[in-house]
Amino acid sequence: MTDQSRPPIAGGCRSAPILKQRGQREVFCGLTGIIWLHRKMQDAFFLVVGSRTCAHLLQSAAGVMIFAEPRFGTAILEESDLAGLNDAHAELDREVETLLSRRPDIRQLFLVGSCPSEVIKLDLNRAAERLTQAYAPKVRVLEYSGSGIETTFTQGEDACLAAMVPVLPKTEERNLVVVGALPDVVEDQMLGLLDGLGIENVQVLPARTIDADVQIGPNTVFALTQPFLGETHAAMLRRGARHLAAPFPLGEEGTTAWLSVIAKEFGVSDELFEKTTDAPRRRARQAVAQAAEALDGKSVFFFPDSQLEIPLARFLTRECGMSAIEVGMPYIHDAIHGPDLDLLPAGPQISEGQDVDLQLDRCREARPDLTVCGLGLANPLEAEGLSTKWAIELVFTPVHFYEQAGDLASLFARPLRRKAILGVAAE
Ligand code: SF4
Repeated sequence: MTDQSRPPIAGGCRSAPILKQRGQREVFCGLTGIIWLHRKMQDAFFLVVGSRTCAHLLQSAAGVMIFAEPRFGTAILEESDLAGLNDAHAELDREVETLLSRRPDIRQLFLVGSCPSEVIKLDLNRAAERLTQAYAPKVRVLEYSGSGIETTFTQGEDACLAAMVPVLPKTEERNLVVVGALPDVVEDQMLGLLDGLGIENVQVLPARTIDADVQIGPNTVFALTQPFLGETHAAMLRRGARHLAAPFPLGEEGTTAWLSVIAKEFGVSDELFEKTTDAPRRRARQAVAQAAEALDGKSVFFFPDSQLEIPLARFLTRECGMSAIEVGMPYIHDAIHGPDLDLLPAGPQISEGQDVDLQLDRCREARPDLTVCGLGLANPLEAEGLSTKWAIELVFTPVHFYEQAGDLASLFARPLRRKAILGVAAE
C-alpha cells in the first residue's frame, strides 16, 4: 500500500521551537461541549451541577435550541449549598429522581461538574456510582468536569468521552473505533467511505444511543476525528487499544491521509483505495479550489481556542495557498498533532498556551489578512481593521471529510469576501 497523501515536506513544523506562554486567557469553559454532544447522543441527558452563571452560559451558547426541550439542564447550587448548609447529595438525588421520572427516554445521564461544584468539593464521582446502582440497568450515570478551572471549550467533549471509555464492554475481536463527535450526516459519509474500503466492524464513539455500545480490547485500533481528545486517547490506550496516528480529516489532503493510514492498517489494496476515493477527492479538490480563490496568497494568524488550529493551518497553507504567521494552540500533544505538524510548511510561530495581551501585540504588529479567534476578540479586532473568523463556528459547522472540504474553505473566505464587498460599497 503506497502512501496516498502528498509526502511530508522537508522542514515541517514538528520539531520547530514552540513558544509557551501562560497568562490571561480568552476561552470558553468545557460546558459548551454539551451543546453538540446532546444532539449527537440521542438518549443522553447532561445535568450540570453548577450556578446560575453556568445556566446562563448554556442558554446563551445554545441560542434558540433551549426552546426545543433539549436534553441538558442545570441543577443550581444555591447559596445555602455553597455554605455547606444543605446535604448536596440528597438534593442531587431528588433532582435526578424528578428528571428521570419525567423523561423516561433518558438512558445515559451525565453529571457535569462546574467551577462551583469543584470549589465546594462536591464528589460527583461518588454520586454517579450511587445513582448508577439505583437506576441500573435502565440508566447509566457517569460524571465528568466541564468547569472553567479544569477545561477549555472542546476539552468538555474530551472529558465526556474519556469518562465513557472505562465502562464500555470488553472485546477480543479486531475492530476499528472512530473517536470524536461528528454531525450525523458527516459520520454517515465517513462510514460509507470505510465500508467502500471493505473495512468491517467499525464503531463510533460517541455512539448515537447506548444500545450501539462500542467495544474495546487488545485488538482494537482507534482513529481520532477531532484533535482535542487527549484524555480520551489516554483512556483508550489504558484499555489496550492502539492509536492509528494520522493527519485529521480536514480538506481533501487530510481526509485522504487519514483514510490512507486506516487502509494501510487493514491491508486495503491500492486499486480499491483509488476506486473508493477517486471521485470524492476530485469533487473536494474542485470545491476547495473554487472557495479558496479569495484565500490564495493571504496570511492567517490563529489564536488558541479549540485545538483545531494546527490541522486547519495545514489545510489553509497546503490546499488554499495561505501563509501562516502564528498557529496558537491551547495544548500540543505530539502523538495527536504530530502528523499534521509534519505536513505544515515551516515558517509560522507555533505557540502553546496564551498570554492574550502579548499575543494581541504580535497579531497587531503582523497585520494578518485573516485572524482566527474567539468571539471575545473578534469584534475589537474588526474595529482595528483586521478581518476575523470566529473559531467557534468551526466546531459547530460540519467541516470534516471530502464533501465538506469546500464549505471549510468557504468559512475562511467569507470574512475576506465581506470585507472586499464592504470596501467597494464604502468607496
Ligand atoms: S463552569 Fe465555571 S467557567 Fe463555566 S460557566 Fe460555570 S462558573 Fe463559568
